[in-house]
Amino acid sequence: MADTKYIFVTGGVISSLGKGIVSSALGKLLQTRGYKVTIQKFDPYINVDPGTLNPYEHGECFVTVDGHEADLDLGHYERFLNVPTTKANNITTGRIYQSVINKERRGDYLGKTVQVVPHITDEIKRNILLLGSKYKYDFVITEIGGTVGDIESLPFIESVRQLRWELGKNCLCVHLTYVPYIDAAKEFKTKPTQHSVKTLQELGIQPEILVLRTEHELNREICRKVALFCNVEEKAVIQSYDVPSIYEVPIVMQKQGFEEILLRKMGLEVGEKPLMKPWNEFLDKMHTATETVKIALVGKYVELPDAYKSINESLLQAATYHHRKLDLHFIQSEKLTDTNVEKELSQMDGILIAPGFGQRGIEGKFAAIKYARENDKPTLGICLGMQCMVIEYARNVLGMKDANSTEIDPQTSHKVIDLMDEQKNLINMGGSMRLGAYDCEIDKHSNIYKVYKKTLIQERHRHRFEFNNEYKAEFEENGMSCSGINPETGLVEIVEIPTKKWFVGVQYHPEYNSTVINPNPLFMSFIEAALVKN
Ligand code: GLN
Repeated sequence: MADTKYIFVTGGVISSLGKGIVSSALGKLLQTRGYKVTIQKFDPYINVDPGTLNPYEHGECFVTVDGHEADLDLGHYERFLNVPTTKANNITTGRIYQSVINKERRGDYLGKTVQVVPHITDEIKRNILLLGSKYKYDFVITEIGGTVGDIESLPFIESVRQLRWELGKNCLCVHLTYVPYIDAAKEFKTKPTQHSVKTLQELGIQPEILVLRTEHELNREICRKVALFCNVEEKAVIQSYDVPSIYEVPIVMQKQGFEEILLRKMGLEVGEKPLMKPWNEFLDKMHTATETVKIALVGKYVELPDAYKSINESLLQAATYHHRKLDLHFIQSEKLTDTNVEKELSQMDGILIAPGFGQRGIEGKFAAIKYARENDKPTLGICLGMQCMVIEYARNVLGMKDANSTEIDPQTSHKVIDLMDEQKNLINMGGSMRLGAYDCEIDKHSNIYKVYKKTLIQERHRHRFEFNNEYKAEFEENGMSCSGINPETGLVEIVEIPTKKWFVGVQYHPEYNSTVINPNPLFMSFIEAALVKN
C-alpha cells in the first residue's frame, strides 16, 4: 500500500469500555485482509512508563521484546495480532514531555518559547507518524487513553485534530462510547453518547465511525437515533455488546461490517469477507469444551485479576487448545499456611506460582510449593514464583533453614537468590530492571527440552534478582536441575525437578509471549500435564 493509513480510537462517557479490545479487534480484521497492521497506545499520565506503577493503579505491566515496560493493552494487541510490539507502541505524556524538555535543554528550539501547541503536539504527532514511516505499516491504529473531555488528554486530541487536516483521506477517527440500559425504565439511553460526541466535535473532531458499548444487544432504532444526532452514517454505528470472551469481539464486529465501512471510507477496495479460519477454529474449541481444567494461581493480587492479565490469557489459550474450559482459582498467598494448603490446593489439577515483588504473601507461596512438590502436582513458577521454588527447595530439601532471596531478607546466611551484579549500584528505579527478550540455552537432556523442542529460545524478562550460581552444583547434585541458562551471563533461566511429573520454574515471563494463534509451549505443556489423571 502506498501511504500508511492512520486510525484513531478515542473513548467517551466512561473509561474501561475496552478501547484496547476494540482496537485489537479492528486490527485483527484488517490484518486478516492482508494488511500490515500495528496498534499504538497513548497514555495521558505523567509517568514516563508504567514500570514503577503499583498493579493496583493500572493492572499488569506488560514487557515488549525490546525491553519496554508498557500498558497491559499492548498485551491484547500482541495476543490478537500475533505480532510483537516495541517501545514505539506505548507513549505517555511523561515521555513526550521528557523528550521535549531534553530538546529544550540541548537548545534545539533556537530561543523559541516552548509551548503545548506546537511543541508538545508536534512531538505527539512525530511519535504517531514514526510507526508508519519507519516500520512501513499499512495501518497504524492509535488508541488514545482516557476519556474525551479529560484535561490530561487534550494535547493528544489536539494532535489528532491537526493530523486529520494534514493526512486527509489517510486518517479516520473511531469513537467508542457507552449506551447504558436503565433497568427501571427498561430503556437504553443515548444521551451520554450524544454528549461525548459533542465534546469531541467541540475539540474539532467529527468521528467517522461510532462503536457503542452496551451490556445488551441494541435494536437498529437506537443506532439510527445515534447516527442522526451525531452526524455519523447509520451503517457506521457499530455496537459492541457484552460477549463471553474478548476473542469473540472481532467476529461480532465483522458481522456488522466494521472494517468494510472503514475501508470504504478510506477509499480502499473492500473485496470478499475473510473466513478467519484459525480464529474461528479457536472459538469453536472454546464454545464446545465441556470438561474443565482446574488451575490455582497463587499470588498476592488475587482480588485484581488484571494484575495477572497475560497469565490468565495464556492459561485460557492453552486450556482451549486442549479443549478444556479454564477453571481458574485465584488463591491469596497471604492466607496460605502449611495447615490450610491441602484444603485449598488438593482439588487443583495444576498450580501456578505468580510473579511479584516484595515480602507480602511470600510465606504462603512457600507453603504452596512445598505441598505441590511433596504431592507431585504439576507446578509452574514464574519469575518470583521460580525464585520461591528455589528457596523452598533450599530450605526443605537441602537443609538451609533460613535460605532466602536478599530481596526478602538481606541478612540471610544462604542467599540462594541474590541481586544481579549490574543492579547493585543503581539509583533510578524506572526502566532499570533486566528487561525484554534474552537468549536461553536449553539442556538437551532436560524435560523442558521436550516442551520447546529446541535448544535456543528467547523469552522476555522483568527482574532484578537471580539464582545465585554459587549454589548451582549443590542444587543439581540434589535433584533440582538448572536446565536453561543464558549463554552470555550464565544466569539460570529455568529450574526443574526431573523426577517429578511436571515441576518447572522460569525466571522469564512466558505469558508475554503467548497469542491466540501461537500459544506459548510452556503453558501448553503445563496444561497437558495438569490433565494427566493420577
Ligand atoms: N522480585 C523479583 C525480582 O526482582 C521477581 C520479579 C518478578 O516476579 N517479575 O527479581
